[in-house]
Amino acid sequence: MRYHKIPDEAVWRLPIYLRGLLFLAEQGRQSVSSKDLADFLGVNPSQIRKDFSYFGDFGTPGVGYKTETLIKQIKKILKLDVVHKTALVGVGNLGSAVLAYPGLRIYGLDIAAAFDNNPKKIGKRVENLTIEDVSNLGTLRRRGIDLGIIAVPADAAQKMADGLVKAGVKGILNFSPCYIEVPKKVKVVSIDIAMDLARLPYYMRAS
Ligand code: ATP
Repeated sequence: MRYHKIPDEAVWRLPIYLRGLLFLAEQGRQSVSSKDLADFLGVNPSQIRKDFSYFGDFGTPGVGYKTETLIKQIKKILKLDVVHKTALVGVGNLGSAVLAYPGLRIYGLDIAAAFDNNPKKIGKRVENLTIEDVSNLGTLRRRGIDLGIIAVPADAAQKMADGLVKAGVKGILNFSPCYIEVPKKVKVVSIDIAMDLARLPYYMRAS
């Protein structure tokens, strides 16, 4: 099912709700109200109800939702109900940390291939993968890999993005501190830790 006219901000918040719900389910909570979830996440319950209303049939507000049902529905909306194999490009310090990060599995995401251009790294084992030569990016399509993570220096990022797009990747998480251009059909989310940190001092209060 495709959902139209849903604000990006609402879609952006769904993984936050999903993470909270997965935690509550693990604690044995079989049902949850929008207020429970809002209290747990420290957000406004009306925001959650409004976001859920974009997607229609999430149950009766106030009465409580079945936790597992809600998890299933959010996963379906986010298309996390099918396996998405991911390729990592750039196995430096940041890329290695991403590979070792267990949090991806919470969402059912798995890094299925890792690439680099450094001959000293190619062929080495990291986590459960063997680092491959980046010239093999073209194999992604036949391996069913449709997401990519870029963790190379900024000056190599656009070339990697082009390679991923050519190999059929539909979504890219870009850790390189630069803007990358891709065709409209491909979604890019960029994370620049330094830039995010640089936003904080403005909000700091003098003590
Ligand atoms: P290290 O010093 O171990 O390489 P690093 O995190 O300091 O780690 P960076 O210079 O940030 O390294 O590069 C990140 C990774 O991207 C490295 O593993 C590097 O070999 C790789 N890389 C750089 N350019 C390319 C490229 N054009 N194609 C593929 N991988 C690349």
